[in-house]
Amino acid sequence: MQVQIPLTRDLVMIGGGHTHALVLRMWGMRPIPGVRLTLISPDPTAAYSGMLPGHVAGLYPREALQIDLVHLARHARARLILGRAEGIDRGNRRILVPGRPDVAYDIASIDIGITTDMPSLPGFADHAVPAKPLDAFADAWEEFASRAARGRADPTVAVIGGGVAGVELALAARHRLGPGAEVTVIERGAALALIGGGARRALLGHLNRAGIALLEHAPVVAVEADAVRLADGRRVASAFTLGAAATRPQGWLAETGLRLTEGFVTVTPTLQTEGDPAIFAAGDIAHMAYAPRPKAGVYAVRQAPVLLHNLGVALTDRGTMRRYRPQKDYLKLISTGGKGAVADKWNLPLDGAWLWRWKDRIDRRFMARFHDLPAMVAPPLPALLAAGVADEIGWGKPLCGGCGAKVGQADLKAALSGLPRPARPDVLTGPGDDAAVLTHGKGHQVITTDHVRAFTEDPWLLARITAIHAMGDVWAMGARPQAALAQVILPRMSPRLQTETLREIMAAAAETFGAEGADVVGGHTSLGAELTVGFTVTGLAAHAPITQSGATPGDWLILTKPLGTGVILAAEMARAAPGAAVAGALASMTRPQGAAARLIAAQAHAMTDITGFGLAGHLLAMLDASGAAARISLSHVPFLPGAEALAATGHGSTLLPANRASMARMFLTESPRADLLFDPQTAGGLLAAVPAAVALDLVHRLRAIGETPAIIGEVTEGAPFLTVED
Ligand SMILES: Cc1cc2nc3c(=O)[nH]c(=O)nc-3n(C[C@H](O)[C@H](O)[C@H](O)COP(=O)(O)OP(=O)(O)OC[C@H]3O[C@@H](n4cnc5c(N)ncnc54)[C@H](O)[C@@H]3O)c2cc1C
Repeated sequence: MQVQIPLTRDLVMIGGGHTHALVLRMWGMRPIPGVRLTLISPDPTAAYSGMLPGHVAGLYPREALQIDLVHLARHARARLILGRAEGIDRGNRRILVPGRPDVAYDIASIDIGITTDMPSLPGFADHAVPAKPLDAFADAWEEFASRAARGRADPTVAVIGGGVAGVELALAARHRLGPGAEVTVIERGAALALIGGGARRALLGHLNRAGIALLEHAPVVAVEADAVRLADGRRVASAFTLGAAATRPQGWLAETGLRLTEGFVTVTPTLQTEGDPAIFAAGDIAHMAYAPRPKAGVYAVRQAPVLLHNLGVALTDRGTMRRYRPQKDYLKLISTGGKGAVADKWNLPLDGAWLWRWKDRIDRRFMARFHDLPAMVAPPLPALLAAGVADEIGWGKPLCGGCGAKVGQADLKAALSGLPRPARPDVLTGPGDDAAVLTHGKGHQVITTDHVRAFTEDPWLLARITAIHAMGDVWAMGARPQAALAQVILPRMSPRLQTETLREIMAAAAETFGAEGADVVGGHTSLGAELTVGFTVTGLAAHAPITQSGATPGDWLILTKPLGTGVILAAEMARAAPGAAVAGALASMTRPQGAAARLIAAQAHAMTDITGFGLAGHLLAMLDASGAAARISLSHVPFLPGAEALAATGHGSTLLPANRASMARMFLTESPRADLLFDPQTAGGLLAAVPAAVALDLVHRLRAIGETPAIIGEVTEGAPFLTVED
């Protein structure tokens, strides 16, 4: 029997900068058993700076320079927290991330880069875009460049900062906008002061030939909507002002008590912070006091193997730390707008297309490390297997988490068919509807239970989504959540990690149920094979609960959330879902439906929530209960971004084949889009049948509270059957 190795140490990596991205990649290939690895990043992707100028010039699509942190986290079996760290409580060893409970660490590492914004420059915050963070800059540039291409924005660009990055970006911007563009580089001192004479001369020649104005010794005093104002009174026309001059560390570091040098975290040669060996730092944010260097990605990259090794020593209490010795200088390849580059080395005037091809190869090779992660190989099956095993796992995929792990609808019905009908007079309904209905005094109480097998390594997120999922049954019956009991299975871990994990789960439960007016009143925990969180919820209804049985021919069908969580989560497990699609699915799942349910409940003839059996399965259940048919239009059904493309490439939840059994009672033309009607949803939306006369008004009112409702079809006369039109 294989022993399940308990988790005993928490490693938290703050920021998905270049160093951490490489550490995650290497960690995935040789993780340290017993370590729970966490990555905190505000975004699901991080941009690679080396290819950013090429992207600005229009030579690379955005995907080419995106490091997908969701894929990397899955590869490293790390929990990814999509949030921004804003503090470290070193006394209690916790990282502060607004909007969620603090994250405990034994060892932490900071790689959050720098920003080039200039908050003290008047007008900068409103009218300029800092080059770093890179992702936000790339978004803003794309938006401006396409407006300029359509003649909707003046092609005037001012770059504040005449260093290598500023000049490279100015050349790239000019290349993208074409000869009609007016690009100006503004530098408070002498431009390109930190590179060799040969490269400097070559780059100045490129600026000149591209018609880019270079203003040196020209301090900027203000940024306006359409111009940059200089200290000598000049105004430089600029519809897009780019900040590439500052190198600012984030302000919250000053509150951590860590030793800083001009705001940057001071590190020793082992990349541990001076005075706190439990915290490491790397990349631009680290100041190597023992060997100071300018901020450059090459150091961030070379620090990665040393950081990985030293984190391992700190986490295992074994081995000796290595020292990082930064090289004195490095070859700089600076692109010159199009497919050309200048090299800064040995003071030589190296310039030409061949240098760009070289740089392109280096950059692509670097990115290939993240785009071509080693395949996840399933362990081979034993030679001797019970009959049926191969069929069961023939689907060839790991078991899905969330609602994708549910038992199929037909099997469940068969199992429940033998259950005696409720005998007590105060139990009005048993299994079949969203929740069971009980009476008490003059009112009604509903009761339901749900548990979710982990699809994320983040217990807080899992608990929040499960709470919303569980309340879905209560909301769908027009009731208000009253009380919740938690059932939690934790994977084997040390008592301290158990406490920390339960703290996060219970914080999510208290906050999510509390916001809906319900109390968390207890629960049950145990250690087991894998993280699973469940809640039993009661709700109170002042009037008779809304069931699935009232849908009436002529009613319109309203759906409150887009479909696609099942396919996105299944593809995420296979590292095939783009990080942005995963972030979109998680955002949808964490959106409670209480307010929407209250609005709909006042009008609905029938309501249900869309969960494991997919839209088709739950709608057919409503039609069965109501004795009616329905017609929906596929073009009106909303889908999460990325879901259809993943379905088209063959991704799908483990529950999908069982859900497709509903097809026998449907008319539809098969397509990847139609397949999403069977996609199991976790914390999915509400589906309601409402009188046609009130449907549009209801949709407007739902939109006003931030929901994204869609009218997807109507209830019709006839035996239970679903017609899907394209
Ligand atoms: C236009 C341009 C071109 C460049 N070209 C080169 C080049 O060719 N060669 C070179 O060596 N260097 C180059 N550089 C410098 C290079 O970009 C940096 O040195 C490099 O990106 C540093 O990497 P890093 O690991 O510090 O983190 P970054 O790459 O800066 O990434 C930091 C990450 O941390 C995340 N983060 C930020 N704040 C938080 C927070 N509070 N909590 C959690 N996460 C957070 C961010 O979202 C980001 O993903 C260039 C810079 C620019 C602007």
